Amino acid sequence: MLDRGFALLYEATVNDRVLDFEQALTEVLRHASGVSRPAKAPQPIALNNTLRRVLAEPVRAERDQPPFRRSTRDGYAVRSADIAAGRDLRVLGSVRAGDRWRGDALRDGEAVEIMTGAPVPDGSDAVLMVEHTLTGADELLRAAPGRLRAAPGRMLAAGENIVPRGAEARKGAEVIPAGRVVGAAEVALAAACGRSHLEVFERPKVAIIATGDELVELDAVPEPWQIRNSNGHALQALVDEEGGFGERLQIARDNREDLIERISRGTMADLLILSGGVSMGKYDFVEQVLLEFGAEFFFTGAQIKPGKPVVFGRVPKRIAVPREDEPPWTGAWTCFFGLPGNPVSTEVCFRLFVAPMLRALCGRTEIAPRFIEARLAADVNCGMRVTRFLPAIVESDWKQVSVRPVPWQGSGDLAANARANAFVVLPGGVQSFAAGESMRVLLR
Ligand code: AMP
Ligand code: MG
Repeated sequence: MLDRGFALLYEATVNDRVLDFEQALTEVLRHASGVSRPAKAPQPIALNNTLRRVLAEPVRAERDQPPFRRSTRDGYAVRSADIAAGRDLRVLGSVRAGDRWRGDALRDGEAVEIMTGAPVPDGSDAVLMVEHTLTGADELLRAAPGRLRAAPGRMLAAGENIVPRGAEARKGAEVIPAGRVVGAAEVALAAACGRSHLEVFERPKVAIIATGDELVELDAVPEPWQIRNSNGHALQALVDEEGGFGERLQIARDNREDLIERISRGTMADLLILSGGVSMGKYDFVEQVLLEFGAEFFFTGAQIKPGKPVVFGRVPKRIAVPREDEPPWTGAWTCFFGLPGNPVSTEVCFRLFVAPMLRALCGRTEIAPRFIEARLAADVNCGMRVTRFLPAIVESDWKQVSVRPVPWQGSGDLAANARANAFVVLPGGVQSFAAGESMRVLLR
C-alpha cells in the first residue's frame, strides 16, 4: 500500500491554479451554491436554544399582525374630519393596551382617550397625539371636563398614528424564510408568532486538522523551538461562530502516514479544514496527500496577503485509507480547504473562503462575506500586487466610520490580531493610500 502511495506521490503533481481574490471568492460561492442542504434536526428546538441555528422551515404569522388596528401613540382616537373642521370633541372614555373599547363606534364630534398599543375604536380613523392637544391646564378643558381640542393649526390625516390590522403580516404569511440564521430579531418575531420551538437544520460536522512538526498541544510544555497549536482552537471557534460543529483531530506531523490517517478520517466530515503544510516548503505534503485521495483542486492559491497558498477543492468521501481492495466509492465528495499555517493567514482565509462554504453547508441562503466602507484614519504605504487584508481597528461615531491598521509583526502576530476588530482591504497594484480614502473592511 505504501509503495503504491509513494508511486502516486511522486507521479502526481497538483496543477497550479492561482486566482485573484475575486475569482477565488467567486469560485467558492459557485461551489457553495451547489451543496445540498443539511438534514433537518430530528426534533424541533426550544426557541431560546436556537440562536445561530439555521431555520429549516419558514416561520409563518400566527394571525394578522397586528391583530387589530393598533395605536402607535398615547393620545385620542378621533375622526380626522372633526380635526380638519376644528371641532371641539367630547371624550367618551378611555382604552388601554390589553383591553378594547367596549362602547359604540365613534360618531361625529366624539373621541376616546387611547394608549400606545391599544386597539383603535371603530368609527375613528386617526389618533391625535396627547402632545398635540390642549391639556387639562387649558381653560377650555377646565371649563368643560371631558372636552378636547386639537392644538391650534394641528391637522391630522386619516390613518395617522394607526397601524392597520395585518399591515405587518397577514395570517399564514411567511415572516422568516427557511435558510435564515436565527438572531435576536428572529427570536423576537418567532415569539410574536407564538413559536415555542423551531425546526432547524443539523449543524454540519467540520474536521479540523492542524499539521506541523513544530506544534504542541495545550497540555504539553513546548521546547523553545516549538509552538502551540493555536490554529486548531482558532478554527474550532470560527467554525462554532458560523454554526458548524468543529472536531479537532490529532495534530498531523509533516509526514505522509500522519496525513493519510487524518485526512482519511477528515473526509468523513461534511467539511475538512487543514492548517499548514500547503506552502512550497520541503515538508509541505498536504496537497500531495490529498491528491492521492483523488482530490480535485478548484484553486491552489489566491493573490492575497496573507493567505496566498490557500487551497480549495474536494475529495471523495472515504472511510478508510486507500487500498487495492477498497470498496467502490459512493460518489459523495467532501470539500476541503488547506489554509496556510500562519495564524492571521488562517483566520483571513477562513473568513474569506471557508465561512461562505460553511454557511451553505449550514443551510444558510446568505453566505457571502460582508464588507463595509470606512475612511482610512492615516496614510498607508503598501505597493503590492496582491490584495492585502490587514488587521485593523474600526471606530465609529455618529458622523463616520474610520479604520486604521494595527501595527503588527506580520501574519504570525496573534497579539496584534487580537487588538484588531476587522481587516482592512488594500487593493493590489496601488502604491499608497491617503488618510480619508474610503476603504473596504471585513468585520469580525
Ligand atoms: P506552514 O503553513 O505549515 O508553512 O506554517 C507556517 C507557520 O505557521 C509555521 O512556521 C508556524 O509558525 C505557524 N503555524 C503552523 N501551524 C500552526 C498552528 N496550528 N498553530 C499556530 N501556528 C501555526
Ligand atoms: Mg508546516
